[in-house]
Formats: sequence, structure tokens, C-alpha cells
Amino acid sequence: MPHWSHLLRDVPGFPRPGIVFKDITPVLADAAAFAAAVEAMATPWREAPPVAFVGIESRGFIFAAALAQRLGTGFVPVRKPGKLPAHTLHHDYALEYGRDRIEIHVDAVPPGAPVVLVDDVLATGGTLLAALALLRAQGADVLGAAVLVELSALDARARWPQGVPLHAALRA
Ligand code: 5GP
Repeated sequence: MPHWSHLLRDVPGFPRPGIVFKDITPVLADAAAFAAAVEAMATPWREAPPVAFVGIESRGFIFAAALAQRLGTGFVPVRKPGKLPAHTLHHDYALEYGRDRIEIHVDAVPPGAPVVLVDDVLATGGTLLAALALLRAQGADVLGAAVLVELSALDARARWPQGVPLHAALRA
């Protein structure tokens, strides 16, 4: 276990009764923990960095931007609908109740450019799979994905395509 694992906080009943939310903000607030967490997420990509780390709104932005600065790459945001100002591509995906949509600027990533997807927490995997589909539709070469925390019990890995590296700094 990394030395910062005790800074992940379980918040029962958020955002709804019955959910135990992993709060990552104590990791961000601690200088040594934040640095170690970003370092752990950066390590798999250091030998062959992507052109950009693609952060998923909103907590994915924090880590993708930090990784981009750490490894000298670009940062690209994937956002909720209606937030990006220029021409966008979207991808719709199913939630437990209803549907959701994510968007990216059509020109955010050059065709064939190697990118890495970034989010804070991998739960069911629906969000990261949607981002993978969106980036592939855009023509990017998705090298893999990096998350701070993987909630192993939800078994998102079973739905993630084999051959696309998925790295978690911590499995909880
Ligand atoms: P999934 O699509 O894998 O079920 O959920 C992952 C998305 O929801 C991520 O964007 C993540 O930020 C958010 N999320 C789901 N559960 C948690 C949680 O317990 N803690 C945090 N910090 N984010 C979560």
C-alpha cells in the first residue's frame, strides 16, 4: 500500500444513501501525498510519454494536468455536455438510471496522436469506457489509462479491453 493510502476518506451516504464515496481531497491537500500519487501515476508512461493526458471532468482534470506538467506533455479536457466552447464530438453512454454524454473538442487531438486517459476513481468503468470510445472515434491512439484509485470490488477490469494498459496507483 502506498504511504498516502490512509488519506483516502470513505464518506458514507454521498451522493446518495447506500453509496460509500471515496473522497480523494485529503490526498490533494497533503503536499507529499499529492506528489507521490502523481509520481505513481506517471511512472508507467515515463519511458514513452503520450502527446497529451486526457482528463475526465472534473477530478480527472487535477491529475491529468499534473501528469502533463510532470512528463512535459499536453493536457486535453473531456467534459460534460455544453461546457466546451468550440466544435465538439460527443459520446452517449448508459448509466444505472438513464444516459449521460461526454464531449471533446474535435481538434483537441491530432489524428493518430498517442494519448492516455486519466480519472481519479475507477468504479464501474462506464465513464472510462465512454472516454475510450470517444477518443477512438476521434482517431486518437489510446495508449492506456491511469487512475488514482481502482475500486476492485466493482470489477471494471472485466469490461476493459485487453491489450489497453490500465494502471491504478492504488486498488481499494
Ligand atoms: P464509473 O463510471 O467508473 O462508475 O465512475 C467513475 C466516475 O465517477 C469517475 O469520473 C469518478 O470521478 C466518479 N466516481 C464514482 N465513484 C466515486 C468515488 O467513490 N469517489 C470519487 N472521488 N469519484 C467517484
